[in-house]
Amino acid sequence: MELTELSVKELGEGYRAKTFSVVDVAKAHLVRIEKENPTLNAYLEVFDDVVVEAERAEKILTEKGAGAHLLTGIPIAVKDNILIKGKKVSAASKMLENYVATYDATAIARLKNAGAFFLGRTNMDEFAMGSSTEHSAYSVTKNPHDITRVPGGSSGGSASAVAAHLAPIALGSETCGSIRQPVSLCGLVGLKPTYGEVSRSGLIAMGSSLDQIGPIARTVYDAKLVFDTIRGSDSLDGTTLPNQGEARVSNKRIGVPREFVKDAQPDVRENFEKTLDTLRGKGYEIVDIEFPSAPYGLAAYYIVMPAEVSTNLARLDGIRYGLSHEGKNLLDEYEQSRARGFGPETKRRVMLGAYVLSSGYYDAYYKRATALRSVIANDLAKAFENVSFIATPTTPGPAFKIGEKSDPVSMYLEDIFAAPANLTGIPAISVPMNTVVRDGVSLPVGVQFMSPKRTESSLFDIARDLIGETL
Ligand code: GLN
Repeated sequence: MELTELSVKELGEGYRAKTFSVVDVAKAHLVRIEKENPTLNAYLEVFDDVVVEAERAEKILTEKGAGAHLLTGIPIAVKDNILIKGKKVSAASKMLENYVATYDATAIARLKNAGAFFLGRTNMDEFAMGSSTEHSAYSVTKNPHDITRVPGGSSGGSASAVAAHLAPIALGSETCGSIRQPVSLCGLVGLKPTYGEVSRSGLIAMGSSLDQIGPIARTVYDAKLVFDTIRGSDSLDGTTLPNQGEARVSNKRIGVPREFVKDAQPDVRENFEKTLDTLRGKGYEIVDIEFPSAPYGLAAYYIVMPAEVSTNLARLDGIRYGLSHEGKNLLDEYEQSRARGFGPETKRRVMLGAYVLSSGYYDAYYKRATALRSVIANDLAKAFENVSFIATPTTPGPAFKIGEKSDPVSMYLEDIFAAPANLTGIPAISVPMNTVVRDGVSLPVGVQFMSPKRTESSLFDIARDLIGETL
């Protein structure tokens, strides 16, 4: 039996049946990482205490027996913008190259409490800005389905690791699609939780009104298990919502914003139609819906996000954190450090953000973008009066070639279907919907479902129904 082939659920069952040990599983992953990671560059660092942590988890399993948490002994890969105490965390930036986390992110603390342990930190676009992982300061990550193609981004390292079986599951983060887009391009399941459902404490901030941590998995069950473990109110993040049990939508009606969906490539649209047919066959009703503001989501995002990025990254000034380069005076020191520490995409967004927030342009850009955000939320609220879910392809197309989208705007268009959920705080899940062929290679693409705030349980239900995954 290949231990790296097993899902989180299967690993847990194997531990309980004593078919293999946690150390066996940890070692199997380390062997595979050693073999595949030089090609894929999914991990920036594999932790040196993996076996020790596995032994510790093994003890917990023995002590707690059947009462152990279902994640006890599960190895997890972690995106390089989520803090693990005592480990480096760089957000794939030169700016934080040697930065060591001084505390655990709440999501990490909750996984540790459950008895899980961490394999390493995964590559990403610098500060989570990008859709291909090409904006990492530490070289690009490859898509295991075709290594000439990107794994998506910004959580591309996590997606590549899980798709290549270098980890059974991973944490990613979303500001606009950074979980859903790479899982679509790597054939996986990924959830962007409701804003406020998962604590942002210990997540290196990109766009604070948009950011959420979420799971990247091979099965719906596994994604739900990790989500259920990390979610919940947290005094360290004032935007977390009060705890609640599982809430569900009331019917099986799915809305399709037909005009919006036209932005996907023709064979992706064909797959999408077949997916809708499958869902019809499983008792779902499909109706067309109006979503007039949908095309403006991307424009609103690319104003709100850089505004928040420029604010959040201001603290990286060469003095308080990270890379520091001596200058002739204080201003020169800031400039030298930031010029050397940040990559080109980060600089572009910091400048754009400062511009849209500047006194002369605030009303014209930032204020209008935030107004647009409310219009999108109203459109969605209206749609959800009649339907429980909204479905679109997750991405316009499958994985693209490394270097193909060197024009930033063409890269930004990858986020077209992602933006509405992040801008309005609703949850969304991406699930595989078959493959399309490019250059003779079959490449996965995903379908996404959005639902009203805090109804993640229903997203897991529909995802499971679609792919026929049983509990
Ligand atoms: N593609 C998005 C961007 O470049 C990804 C942001 C994210 O979700 N972290 O902004």
